[in-house]
Amino acid sequence: MQEKSPKDNKKEIPPYENLLRLGLIAFWLSLIFTGLFGFAQVEKIPYSRFLTELNNNKLSEIYVSPEEIKGTLKAADNKVKTFRTVRIDDPQLAAKLAQHAEVFQGVPEDLVWKSLASWCIPIIILFGISSLIAQKIANSDSGIPGLGMRNIVKSGAKTYMESDVKTTFKDVAGVDEAKEDLQEVIGFLKEPERYNRLGGHLPKGILLVGPPGTGKTLLAKAVAGEAAVPFFSISGSEFVEMFVGVGAARVRDLFTQAQSSAPCIIFIDELDALGRSRGLSPMGGHDEKEQTLNQLLVEMDGFDPRQGVILLAATNRPEILDQALLRAGRFDRHIVVDRPDKLGREQILTVHLRKVTCNQTDVVEPMAAATTGFTGADLANLVNEAVLGATKRGATTVELSDFNTALERIIAGPEKKHRLLAAKDREIVAHHEIGHALVSLALPGSDPIQKVSIIPRGVGALGYTMQRPTEDRFLMSRSELENKLAVLLGGRAAEMLTFEDISTGAADDLAKATEIARSMVTRYGMNKSLGPVTYEGETQAFLNGYKPSDMEGRKFSEETAREIDCAIRELVNAALQKAIAILTERRANLEAAAKLLLNKESLTQQELMAVAGPAIEQNVS
Ligand code: ADP
Ligand code: MG
Ligand code: ZN
Repeated sequence: MQEKSPKDNKKEIPPYENLLRLGLIAFWLSLIFTGLFGFAQVEKIPYSRFLTELNNNKLSEIYVSPEEIKGTLKAADNKVKTFRTVRIDDPQLAAKLAQHAEVFQGVPEDLVWKSLASWCIPIIILFGISSLIAQKIANSDSGIPGLGMRNIVKSGAKTYMESDVKTTFKDVAGVDEAKEDLQEVIGFLKEPERYNRLGGHLPKGILLVGPPGTGKTLLAKAVAGEAAVPFFSISGSEFVEMFVGVGAARVRDLFTQAQSSAPCIIFIDELDALGRSRGLSPMGGHDEKEQTLNQLLVEMDGFDPRQGVILLAATNRPEILDQALLRAGRFDRHIVVDRPDKLGREQILTVHLRKVTCNQTDVVEPMAAATTGFTGADLANLVNEAVLGATKRGATTVELSDFNTALERIIAGPEKKHRLLAAKDREIVAHHEIGHALVSLALPGSDPIQKVSIIPRGVGALGYTMQRPTEDRFLMSRSELENKLAVLLGGRAAEMLTFEDISTGAADDLAKATEIARSMVTRYGMNKSLGPVTYEGETQAFLNGYKPSDMEGRKFSEETAREIDCAIRELVNAALQKAIAILTERRANLEAAAKLLLNKESLTQQELMAVAGPAIEQNVS
């Protein structure tokens, strides 16, 4: 969040006042320094030299204070200098002085100066600074809420306003429907009279709903930018404070500040952090959160959208929001910001490639095709990775190959070329990956294979088979899911066939396969004996895959639980058998391809096709 101060409103401090202040500071500083170090001409000498000079009878007019000894010193060239030395606890000092010096006297400790130094000066400095700050506050308080120190003190936190938002709808791509819905809000903020004429008004609260990284925050900001109104924003998690009552006070403050600079937008990001259903928390009620939420509800009821304040909020977990927040008159308008489709991805890539030197026509289409399921944030990241890669290469433009490398890096993790695998492990990994690839090539409807590799990547992957869908799919049929299971188990099947032993390498595949099988049984009603019934609580899987926790309890009997387990096992087992059957039939291809892979470390689609044996037409893209 940024704070901006309007320059035109700021009173200038007269220049002479500044000079005066500077002079004062300089005066005090010089006082301090002279106090601390004495006068500049005084020579500081070590105690040992003091004793030698004393013995040589070179010293006169000696003043002995509890801390130091001062006096005059006749130097070699007969010049007389003042000297001082730090006094050391020396019982014979008086005797030596009596022996060698003509005049010497004690000086009492300079209590006045000391107390002045240790007490007055810090106080004076503090006073000076605080008066300076006070001046600043007086000058910067321009009457605009959210600015100046006084307001910060009042809210116990920072201010939330950004007055000159540069983000516009041009920066947000691929979410045309959401933009269309928000157009109305912009129209209202620009000319509220037109909307108020017939007595209608906009909904008070608009909730942007969508998976993380799809551009909700960006979109909210762009609305403010388009309408050229101030943007008050705060994240839900910022409301949640250690001290009970602070969050509620902030809500109150935010609304007060916003209302006095209408028309404007209040944006509450990550609303779920604050608006979680009350009483759902496992720790028992969380007083602070509840108070904050209640305050928000009160404020929402209290303000009239006709004043020109629009409340926007964003969440990726609408299902856990408190019902009171969602009822009519509050956040009753929902705008879904979903993952972009291929066209949307093209547009988003174009936006992020604006400042990148590359041939857009070469890059945008193939990359949009290869990034099914990516969000705007993922795509922004992809572009950035590609640019970094090209920079590292020392290239002048970013090529398609940079994007492909970046994509691979994002999906599978960075290559770990230095992680050496034992020969035996390499062989297992090669057969495992080829197993996936061959099963996939043999089954209709599988995503085409871009690459098979046994270069270790990321944290755990020893090898991988890169398969990307070519089009956006919203539905999957039962047979497609079963094929997917078979492909996932292809790795394990290949190991079983070639080594008659199995390895831990399939752990990830098994977990994924089990998850798919579970969904088939409990969510999609794809098991005959369990019937077309869902055995899971209501979920909105399209949003970050949130699942109701076990706390909510199972809604089926022990027996059904057992049946579900059996059905899952059956599905996965059947998939394994299918994979084994396919690979047995293509045993020679498996060996040949694995050998080639061991040699080359990674195979492209073409190289793989050459050794993979008969494939089904549609799997070759
Ligand atoms: P969210 O709030 O939905 O989690 P953000 O708005 O914070 O996502 O998006 C993060 C970043 O991803 C943005 O700053 C932007 O660079 C990029 N981004 C996300 N969605 C889009 C989009 N639709 N168009 C352009 N850039 C996007
Ligand atoms: Mg966000
Ligand atoms: Zn595998």
